[in-house]
Amino acid sequence: MNDRIGTTRDGIVIRGARILGGEPADILIRDGLLVEIGQGLSVGETVETVEAEGLIALPGLVDLHTHLREPGREDAETVTTGTRAAALGGYTAVHAMANTDPVADTAGVVEQVWRLGQEAGYCDVQPVGAVTVGLGGEHLAELGAMADSAAQVRVFSDDGRCVSDAVLMRRALEYVKAFDGVVAQHAQEPRLTEGAQMNEGAVSGRLGLTGWPAVAEEAIISRDCLLAAHVGSRLHICHVSTAGSVELIRWAKSKGWDVTAEVTPHHLLLTDDLVEDSPVGSYNPIYKVNPPLRTRADVEALRAALADGTIDCVATDHAPHPVEDKEAEWAAAAMGMIGLETALAVVQEAMVETGLLDWAGVAERMSCAPARIGRLRGHGQPIEVGAPANLTLYDPAVRAAVDPAGYASKSRNTPYQGLTLPGRVVATFLRGRPTVLDGKLT
Ligand SMILES: [Zn+2]
Repeated sequence: MNDRIGTTRDGIVIRGARILGGEPADILIRDGLLVEIGQGLSVGETVETVEAEGLIALPGLVDLHTHLREPGREDAETVTTGTRAAALGGYTAVHAMANTDPVADTAGVVEQVWRLGQEAGYCDVQPVGAVTVGLGGEHLAELGAMADSAAQVRVFSDDGRCVSDAVLMRRALEYVKAFDGVVAQHAQEPRLTEGAQMNEGAVSGRLGLTGWPAVAEEAIISRDCLLAAHVGSRLHICHVSTAGSVELIRWAKSKGWDVTAEVTPHHLLLTDDLVEDSPVGSYNPIYKVNPPLRTRADVEALRAALADGTIDCVATDHAPHPVEDKEAEWAAAAMGMIGLETALAVVQEAMVETGLLDWAGVAERMSCAPARIGRLRGHGQPIEVGAPANLTLYDPAVRAAVDPAGYASKSRNTPYQGLTLPGRVVATFLRGRPTVLDGKLT
């Protein structure tokens, strides 16, 4: 950690940043807070200066869906390497998914993950608690104990697996109401996806790979929206991937039900035909992910839903895997992609360059909404005087080939290799302390 900048008593002034893409302004940070915002601020000589001409200032990004792999799979990622990747991606907080080994299904494990995040210091780590013991889908985990723990868990998910038992799902939804929690569902009807390898459609038919039908996702989403409405609780849908899911969520929201949803960057950009033909060949497991990449029509529907707010936020589903788990034949390879270090670039490509979102919209969907859904304090707040100084400075004007060689993540399973993407995170500030400066970890 660089202790020169950001720890001086007199603070930091960011010069000429375009807040949410607006007119250039200066931002004075002191004691971890935004204390003054305006044009041509006069500050003392002992204040450090960060030049930000041409850069966009966003509230520090918040991820609702990150797999940090610790404890248990430190060969794929650790809390330290994953949060370094997050900081480089412009994130100041991530929700760490519960499918670790041991599973984060007790107060002890969630507190361990939370403390590891604090010790690493690159971004806040908010653990997600498992819904069922050991992700086994049979018995509810100690949701209340996790909520009352030092980690103050508010998001519960068996992600990686679906809570497919309707009675258990109902009980979980009822239980989390007591502490304003939310159940985040990985919507995948297990019987409809046995042995599934990729999206069910024309491409899977040609390739002879077992299909993963859209209805397997949509059936669970419709059931869970009805359950959430029935018990009056909060439901969040992880990684929405089909046009039909969008229609169901739009319907649930039109009823006034408390349902929110996320989409991953890769489902906003990539399609299932990459499995057949891509810059890195055919049958390349780099494109194997759960839920699978879908069709161009699905991608268009997801973009429109993120633009109109039917889908509330972008979540990375950053899923690191070591080389040996990913560089196998298609059927044997692990599912998942890394995404923390490319999320903002992909969102710029898919949503901003297409005119679907402006930078204020990006801030809402990558910072404010996820913080709100996760009930995370101190993050996702407007850039205004008095707010915690959680900030990202982003240069949207550059374009570069994706090169994972320099990534902080321990894993290299990015599906964007060979592509050129816009933008670069120049600096990230966590409560006024730079975690990234000049595009590098401090
Ligand atoms: Zn999932």
